This record gives sequence, structure tokens and C-alpha cells, in this order.
Amino acid sequence: MHTNQTVDLKDLSPDALVDFLAGMGKEKFRAEQILRWIYQRGVENFTEMTDLAKSFREELSQRATISSFTHEAVEVSSDGTRKFLFPLHDGKSVETVLIPMESGRHTLCISTQVGCAMQCSFCLTGTFGPERNLTTSEIVNQVCAVRKDYTVDNIVMMGMGEPLHNLNNVVDALKILYVATGFDYSSRKVTLSTSGLIPEMHELGHRIKVNLAVSLNATTDAVRDELMPINKRYPLAELMEACRRYPQAPHQRITFEYILIKGVNDSQADAKRMVKLLHGIKAKVNLIPFNEHSDSAFKTPDEQTIRAFQTYLLDRQIVAIRRVSKGQDISAACGQLKGKLENKL
Ligand code: SAH
Ligand code: SF4
Repeated sequence: MHTNQTVDLKDLSPDALVDFLAGMGKEKFRAEQILRWIYQRGVENFTEMTDLAKSFREELSQRATISSFTHEAVEVSSDGTRKFLFPLHDGKSVETVLIPMESGRHTLCISTQVGCAMQCSFCLTGTFGPERNLTTSEIVNQVCAVRKDYTVDNIVMMGMGEPLHNLNNVVDALKILYVATGFDYSSRKVTLSTSGLIPEMHELGHRIKVNLAVSLNATTDAVRDELMPINKRYPLAELMEACRRYPQAPHQRITFEYILIKGVNDSQADAKRMVKLLHGIKAKVNLIPFNEHSDSAFKTPDEQTIRAFQTYLLDRQIVAIRRVSKGQDISAACGQLKGKLENKL
């Protein structure tokens, strides 16, 4: 049967690209050539792929496309953080944040969904409910677009959405990030953050290597139930057990993100319970003072409380880093990404 459907090559994992080309009678090294053109040289059309025969390029342009992103807006924060807004073909949009590090390196925070189904009470992305998964090409195109103008050293899947609700596309995107003839990122440079979907965490660990970050945010089920409804399905004890079982390299640690919210989860008793929860897990803790926003009544704790919480952990040999959530003045900080979702209300 003949169809006129073309495939976007950026939707294909490296293996799927090999298969696609095999269907055209081509050898594996052709896939390597094309990966280099697309991801190393940023080429967006087949005519530029000068080491492929002209007839092959023509055949490719009939069967395939190479999508790309153009940002609609960039906002620059006083701290150097840049937020890119990318329009999608269906009128939705997605946000990507480039964060300069003290070392001069750049971390890129990419999104995996438009909206998020998890409905965490403190998070702006979640307040708009589920919209849709991003395709593999929509995930990698955020990286392609930013790399045209900036060096991207580290990648964190911590933007809009719950990556483990979009596991297949996320795994394919990771394969594209890692492939030596493509972006060639080491898996040590990439971190995926989850609200704690236990079966998907297990599957992720078996399918691909990636640094895992878990949004902990509470030390009792009662409080976590309130902050993160997912906790009712996968409570703390089970989540910690899943973290203990997560396959890790010898020096790797799981990052636990902990938003400090005034009067909710910032007490010394919380710090004490956290030490217990983390027992037996190779962990580090990122303490993120809550970013206040107009849609939430939650407040940031005072300086003294934040410091006392951190000190309690450090005194018990837990690596606890205080994260300054960057880009607050342009709503690019943690939990503030929402694309243009608000326009729909
Ligand atoms: N859905 C995934 C990844 C995206 S959220 C997850 O939840 O892990 C990225 C991080 O932003 C999470 O750790 C979340 O707890 C944090 N966050 C959300 N809202 C925030 C806020 N208002 N202030 C500080 N951090 C926030
Ligand atoms: Fe979704 Fe993460 Fe926000 Fe929760 S914190 S609503 S899981 S994006």
C-alpha cells in the first residue's frame, strides 16, 4: 500500500533510524552520516548532506522530513538565565530554560510535556492539568535550537511535565542525546526528575542510564499527600524502597529535591525524618526555597530556618546543597513554567 506519509527523522531513535534506512536498502553507516548532519552540524534539509548521493537525498526528501524549532520569544533574567518559548504545530507552546553556572558552563532545562497531570499543589505547571506528551522530536528540538547559539554542557529534564508519564519518547530522546555520532552527551551529564512514579522508575532504570532526581518535598505521608497527590498511590516508604533498588554506578547518587515551604515542611523534625528516610540510599539533597507566586499561598521560609535545616543534614554527613532557583524575575524558575497555558483560561 502506498502512503504519502513522511517521517520526521528527529522522532526516530538511532536504532529506529537504522531500521528506517534499511527499509530503503541502505547500510548502517548511512544512519551515522545522517545523525552527524542533523545533530552535530545542525543541518535541517537533505540537500546540504553532501556526502550522500544525490539520488539518495532526493529519495529521502520524499520519505522524510527534519523538523526544527524557532523560538517565539526569549526572556533574559538579571542573573543571566534565559527562557525560550517555542510554539508547537498545534498552537500549544513549550518552555526551555538555559541556566548559566558559576563554572561558566550552561545547564539546559528541557520540558517533556505540555502541562502536567500530577497536580502538585505548589507547582504552576501542574495547575493547568494535563495537556499532552511531547514527541521525541519536540524534546530533542529544544536542545537543537538552543545549541545553535549556546554551548549546552548539562541537560536536566526538569521543565514542564512529568517525564515518566512520557517514558517511551523520553527514552528515545535520551538515546539521541547519548549517541556518539549525534549529540554525544555522557549519561553523567543528563538528569531526569520525577515526582515518583514507581513502576516507571523501575522501567527507566532497566532501559537506559540517566541520573535520577526525585522530588521528595515532604517527610511524612500526610504532608506529601497534600503537596503531591501522587503520594496517595506511591507513598514514601515504597518510593524510598524504589530508590534503593534503582540501578546506580558506584559513584552515582540520587538527587532528592526538597522545596522548603514555610511552616509546611521546614522544621527540625522534618530534617530528622529526612535523615531516616535517606538511610541506605546513596543520596544528595537539593534544598530549594519555595518560589512564591501569585497562584499560591505558600511562602518561603526565613533565612534562619533554611540554614538550620541544611545544617542538620550536613552535620549528619548528608550532602545537602542549597539551590538558588534562577530566573525568578522572568518566571523561569522551578515550578513557574507554563508556556502560554494561561491564555486558555
Ligand atoms: N515533574 C518532574 C519534573 C519537573 S518539576 C518533577 O516533579 O520532578 C521540577 C522541580 O521543580 C520539582 O522538583 C518541583 O518540586 C520543583 N518546583 C515546582 N514548583 C516549585 C516552586 N514553586 N518553587 C520551587 N520549586 C518548585
Ligand atoms: Fe508536574 Fe513536577 Fe509540577 Fe508536580 S512538580 S505538577 S510532577 S511538573
